[in-house]
Amino acid sequence: MMDDDFFSPKDPGLPPLPCVGCGWCCLDNPCEVSQQVYGYVPRCPALVWTGARYVCDLVAHPVAGVDLTPLFVGQGCCARHNAWRRDVRKRD
Ligand code: SF4
Ligand code: SF4
Repeated sequence: MMDDDFFSPKDPGLPPLPCVGCGWCCLDNPCEVSQQVYGYVPRCPALVWTGARYVCDLVAHPVAGVDLTPLFVGQGCCARHNAWRRDVRKRD
């Protein structure tokens, strides 16, 4: 079980870390955008492995009418203590 520290309660005030595309947050729990577009599914269909990292296909190929604001794209990683950040690879 990974420690989801979205608000980094142990490290208040630390600057955000960049997203390295490990995929943990999306695989742990599809986001609200995913739920709106695809419904409640175990694995978000928009999570795509590029060969080097995971990306969100809804961000890579925006769809008219899909609001990406809740994704906070470019604002850093939401789970700085997540060990997957140091082991970026395809997960099945
Ligand atoms: S856990 Fe962090 S590094 Fe991994 S995909 Fe999510 S935001 Fe990016
Ligand atoms: S819609 Fe994008 S950000 Fe949300 S769970 Fe799917 S891949 Fe991740």
